Amino acid sequence: MKGRLRSSVGEDVYSSWFARMDLESVQDESVHLSVPTRFLKSWIQTHYSDKVLSCWQAELPDVNRIDLTVRSPVRCAAPAKEAPAPAESRRDEQRSAAERSNGAAPVSANHDALGGSPLDPRLTFASFVVGRSNTLAHAAAKQVAEGRRGDPVMFNPLYIHSGVGLGKTHLLQAVTWAGNTGNERKVLYLTAEKFMYGFVAALKTQTSLAFKEALRGIDVLVIDDLQFLQGKTTQAEFCHTLNALIDAGRQVVVAADRPPSDLESLDERVRSRLAGGLVVEMAPLGEDLRLGILRSRVVAARAHHASFDVPQPVLEYLARAITHNGRDLEGAINRLLAHSKLNNQPVTLEMAEHEVRDLIRPSEPKRIKIEDIQRIVARQYNVSRSDLLSSRRTANVVRPRQVAMYLAKTLTLRSLPEIGRRFGGRDHTTVLHAVRKIEGLVSKDNTLSDEVESLKRQLQE
Ligand code: ADP
Ligand code: MG
Repeated sequence: MKGRLRSSVGEDVYSSWFARMDLESVQDESVHLSVPTRFLKSWIQTHYSDKVLSCWQAELPDVNRIDLTVRSPVRCAAPAKEAPAPAESRRDEQRSAAERSNGAAPVSANHDALGGSPLDPRLTFASFVVGRSNTLAHAAAKQVAEGRRGDPVMFNPLYIHSGVGLGKTHLLQAVTWAGNTGNERKVLYLTAEKFMYGFVAALKTQTSLAFKEALRGIDVLVIDDLQFLQGKTTQAEFCHTLNALIDAGRQVVVAADRPPSDLESLDERVRSRLAGGLVVEMAPLGEDLRLGILRSRVVAARAHHASFDVPQPVLEYLARAITHNGRDLEGAINRLLAHSKLNNQPVTLEMAEHEVRDLIRPSEPKRIKIEDIQRIVARQYNVSRSDLLSSRRTANVVRPRQVAMYLAKTLTLRSLPEIGRRFGGRDHTTVLHAVRKIEGLVSKDNTLSDEVESLKRQLQE
């Protein structure tokens, strides 16, 4: 379904508007979908409702209505150190909290008065797991959070970008929590949506003196999901705010799903101002980091459910299988917890496989290059790439060369002659011979078969 929508609207539109749309339920003729913000909801409704409906109808002809609702973030007045709600009931709680009060009960008085967006008490530095892909972003955020009023500002703005679900909001909210609880600074966290509809509107009703006054109260302005900032007036206000804050030595922190240069709807001046500070990209979560996040979620859940445990092999399985984003990792642990509590059963691998099967998306086949194969094989066998391409026939080069050709044939769409050419101008029959040879060996020789598997994994990472 998502695939159909993606190809119908194109990758850019899809990732801007639909990446965070979730299916809640399907009932006879209506499909219930949810998005995280009101802004997304109204945008999708006004611009894409027909598209969404027709994509569903293509799969389920009976569907004639799409219900779109806003999934609410946890709105909570409690400070970060307060115990989080048990994971299994959290979803329901979120919903009912949202139903009870549509108004936000944001975190602190400061935040409230300035119209900040609600914060999730769980998104703190303490719960943020650091790994290779986010070390720099984490360090920069930490540095910003630890600054004191009047300290010289090191990088301004700090601009963090990554794909969906890789921890931007987590990091930004961590900065906000730390700033507002740790020292006397005022940190204001706003989604771009809130900035557009709340902040800007409030500012417009004020005189420019009052505007300056309002800004003076903010030490750190944090803006999340900047890619949603739209419209000329808003942009002008944003530019104005950005300049005023930066010039006054106040810190600005921004997150978006793309680098500043790709924010097409923004004015060139704003883009270059954004790019003028520190721009940090967070790469997709590596397997270690995914494992770390899963572990920390289990530890958090165990605070309330002492009997809950997820065996190491299950954690490893989840870390390997759920590759796309942090929200799915969290979802997986919540499901296991719910399942094991409801059925009073320990978590097993079978249970995990069954519970999370829909979170495992077929990994988009990565295009593997022959150069990469040669490089990684050479490294593994401690020979040089030119050895692989050379005509040397010593055993220590022949085997790696055959393995590399075999991988080139099985992992790429290149033809035998093409592979031959790329391996120092060899004949296609030589390549075929190598492929057959290795095929025959991997079924008998465990060491070789492990090596080949490990090479494949390295190439697919
Ligand atoms: P983004 O804003 O980049 O789309 P989020 O910050 O909302 O992503 O992260 C999605 C989920 O993954 C959240 O539940 C978040 O807590 C979790 N997550 C992502 N990265 C990490 C991390 N490094 N450590 C702990 N949790 C993480
Ligand atoms: Mg986010």
